[in-house]
Amino acid sequence: MIEREYRIPQISTGDILREEVAVDTLLGRAAKSFMGQGSLVPDEVMIEIVKERLSGPEYASGYILDGFPRTVAQAEALDRSLALEGSGIDLVLSLELDEEELVQRMAERRVCERCGEVFHLRFHPPRIPGQCDSCGGPLVQRDDDREETIRRRLSVYRAETAPLISYYRRGGRLQEVSGSGAIPTVKRRIDQALKERFGT
Ligand code: AMP
Repeated sequence: MIEREYRIPQISTGDILREEVAVDTLLGRAAKSFMGQGSLVPDEVMIEIVKERLSGPEYASGYILDGFPRTVAQAEALDRSLALEGSGIDLVLSLELDEEELVQRMAERRVCERCGEVFHLRFHPPRIPGQCDSCGGPLVQRDDDREETIRRRLSVYRAETAPLISYYRRGGRLQEVSGSGAIPTVKRRIDQALKERFGT
């Protein structure tokens, strides 16, 4: 929604990896086992992927990073690399949600196998069950959205990703946004955070 409305292109590292897995590239093969277990793909791999993407001309006037950085080492590498070009990350949004609600959001998430559009069985159901509203493709559950893998991802989050909150807070770039409630409610909170930072 933010990408479409504000016309800022998004780079989602999870989407990039899922595409690589789907077309069975070397990177996809290497990433698959980490992803299936709910573990993180090694930092060096992720940092190279993002640096490579960011060098594309479509990102010259800004971008949204989704799912990256996931570790302090990734955040430091990103800052170092952007500083070399005199740029940097303007704002970091941390979407906060109770863990049990998070598990439900993920366990009932469905994604289109063809175009990647995301649905939720209760909060954002497709018009026709099992079928994507945008392209008619089949809706499937992500392998890592099974409950035991979700729990593992949350423990990886606590150990590896949560330290980013103080990293970005120290730099004055963090804005915490409550992720509870319906999609339009959360969207309005994000709009407000963007307005406070960018005045748009
Ligand atoms: P996501 O779609 O963001 O939930 O990512 C799905 C999976 O891809 C994660 O559980 C990781 O295995 C892997 N992944 C995505 N982004 C990163 C990242 N920045 N660093 C390491 N692994 C990642």
